[in-house]
Amino acid sequence: MRPGYWLLGGLLAGFAALFLGFNPEPAEATRHLPLQLSKDNTLDATALTAGASVPDTVATSIQPPAESDELAEWPDPDLEPAALEGEWHDVTVESGDSLALIFSRLEIPPQQLHKILELGGAAHNLKKIYPGQSLRFLTNPELGLVKLEYQIDELSGMEVRRQDDDFEIATSHRTPERRVANASGAINSSLFIAGQEASLPDSLTMELANIFGWDIDFALDIRKGDQFALIFEELYLDGEKIDNGNILAAAFVNQGKTYKAVRYTDKSGRTDYYSPDGKSMRKAFLRTPVEFSRVSSRFNLKRRHPVLNRIRAHKGVDYAAPRGTPIRSTSNGKIIFRGKKGGYGNTIIVKHGTKYSTLYAHMSKYKSGLSKGSRVKQGQIIGYVGSSGLATGPHLHYELRINDVHRDPLRVKLPGAKPLEKKYREDFEQKAGALIAQLDLVRNVQVASSE
Ligand SMILES: [Zn+2]
Repeated sequence: MRPGYWLLGGLLAGFAALFLGFNPEPAEATRHLPLQLSKDNTLDATALTAGASVPDTVATSIQPPAESDELAEWPDPDLEPAALEGEWHDVTVESGDSLALIFSRLEIPPQQLHKILELGGAAHNLKKIYPGQSLRFLTNPELGLVKLEYQIDELSGMEVRRQDDDFEIATSHRTPERRVANASGAINSSLFIAGQEASLPDSLTMELANIFGWDIDFALDIRKGDQFALIFEELYLDGEKIDNGNILAAAFVNQGKTYKAVRYTDKSGRTDYYSPDGKSMRKAFLRTPVEFSRVSSRFNLKRRHPVLNRIRAHKGVDYAAPRGTPIRSTSNGKIIFRGKKGGYGNTIIVKHGTKYSTLYAHMSKYKSGLSKGSRVKQGQIIGYVGSSGLATGPHLHYELRINDVHRDPLRVKLPGAKPLEKKYREDFEQKAGALIAQLDLVRNVQVASSE
């Protein structure tokens, strides 16, 4: 039986017990819910409200609670009945609230809070409460705090319990179940729309674009009829989907060319996406130094200059973007120039190893803390888009030189990032093989359904 049913059964059992005997107050039923079951808490709270009269048929489907560890904390038979006496308070953290303020409002002696925080460990979570979260307190006028329940997040919870004059903390953590799902689609207008048509959450579509973004320029290269297929994880808790996991494998057909990628974590813990032959999907250079921009002028050796109005080679690519948009170094390297450079305006040149260098011009300003000689990482912000020098409007002029020769950054074949280490090859091939086979099945379904 699935855990969700166990829980529901257990809950109804508990509810029925409460209803029939020792506690006539239905609201009490939710009080003993294990902390970690917030999802079902909501779900079953409705069931309880709706079921003010529990039908007999439901009552007979009660499951014995013994075998389910999820029920272990609920209701606690070892707890002295006297210890449970007191008043429950549901507290929602307000903005500007602190635990000290909450304790004071509930008239719990501040020394007790001090005692709890001194326990360290999980107690630290209590220092990180934020507005909107809820905590439950059981207080007693003589003892102060008897019990404190706190759902830290969807997967973890904690409980502070009085133990004579001291407190102890119990925590619970749940591991979501991972289910494998797949999706496929064909592009009609945009990747995002195709993703939505395939019921793919936007976050996964974005991830898909990130995986293949090194080979495919999703702003320029996408054509009607391009296809994608992917296998990904979904995270479930008690039969309810709580989040998406990672993309495990994906294929993208762009203008007739097929790209495939597989997620792999080697034994050292390094995770990356690799092509089926073990090459990293990442490249040594980012495809574009400015996100959310458009190419306003391409590499062209016979271009008429917009300001000078005469034929002058355009040995770079222009990216139009609003003034102040961050500019990123396209690869790891060292800044060898930072300053004004004629028509280029505020310029940075980064040298990458011995062969490659990149130039970024017309900046409005440089990223602070960087100067000639600074080392930069791939993707690191080095400056901001502007129109300094000879420019008609805010844009980045970007150049790539290989062995001091200007090359078209949009066309040149970029070197790959570090490939898979040889020692992981066999393990990779085994795992990747299975995923690629699964992926091909998904793709065949896609092809069949689009025909
Ligand atoms: Zn330019």
